[in-house]
Amino acid sequence: MPRLTVVVPVYNEAAVLPAFHARLRRVLDELPLDGEVLYVDDGSQDGSWPLLEGLAAGDPHAGALRLSRNFGKEAAMTAGLDRADADAVVVIDADLQDPPELIPSLVEQWRAGFDVVYATRTTRAGETRFKRFTSALFYRGMERLSDLHMPRDTGDFRLLSRRAVEALRQLRERQRFMKGLFTWIGYRQTAVYYLREPRQAGRTKWNYWRLLQLAIEGVTSFSAAPLRMATWIGLLSSALAFLYGLWVFGKAALYGDPVHGYPSLMVAILFLGGVQLLALGVIGEYLGRSYLESKQRPLYFVEAERLPTRH
Ligand code: UDP
Ligand code: MG
Repeated sequence: MPRLTVVVPVYNEAAVLPAFHARLRRVLDELPLDGEVLYVDDGSQDGSWPLLEGLAAGDPHAGALRLSRNFGKEAAMTAGLDRADADAVVVIDADLQDPPELIPSLVEQWRAGFDVVYATRTTRAGETRFKRFTSALFYRGMERLSDLHMPRDTGDFRLLSRRAVEALRQLRERQRFMKGLFTWIGYRQTAVYYLREPRQAGRTKWNYWRLLQLAIEGVTSFSAAPLRMATWIGLLSSALAFLYGLWVFGKAALYGDPVHGYPSLMVAILFLGGVQLLALGVIGEYLGRSYLESKQRPLYFVEAERLPTRH
């Protein structure tokens, strides 16, 4: 029988884990596949780990892995994907926002020959207008800046075939923008649509600050366009400054120059200063990223593991 591993990143989800496991178990039991679950505890501090150890001890098809600290969801997923050696792997959130009941539809598309089957939500209920607007802006921007056509309204919930997982495993970059990486590997990809529910318990770890960082991460990992943008802005503003200079010079030559022009001088200085700082910041973002990559640190450390007994 083909084997399926469900990878679940977990960070402080004790409140919802028992319900999640029960629902997932029910789905896996009905699938005509040899299904197992692999929880990755991303350094939780709320008792998620003892709970997971209990689940793994009581269920031969469940395993758990604990990272040495909180490395972030991307690293936790990577740890799970590194361990999974099944024919297909599903990545799903623990908070029940991704309904486990969708897994059979994902599997069906995989059986039909797709390598990456992602779950796309049909509504964004419970999200503010501002959130929707910023997210639309982000996807639009990403498409413009990189050649990557990331599916919209799609999280990390998806199924990957063995060769897709093996491809992902080769991408060891430290700046892991998973949504982009999933798309970047290529192969045959398709969507399955679903209704995303609000979180069942606990609270989201995302806020606008983290989302903004994620967006910068996404852009800088897949595009060097902002660096080029700095060049263009520089060229444009120096061209404008040159024209303005001609005008000032001509005016002074024709009509003389009583000492005026403090405001325009200030505007020019401040504007150019701002542009220069912005360009420096952009360069800094990329430089910082190459610095982090150059250290070649491992993506995570494992503190304890309890793999499904089949291993
Ligand atoms: N998560 C994680 N490490 C983190 C933050 C989150 O492993 O540092 C897990 C979390 O337990 C959940 C999933 O990633 O299973 C999605 O997190 P969350 O629900 O907070 O994100 P949202 O659904 O709001 O995008
Ligand atoms: Mg969530």
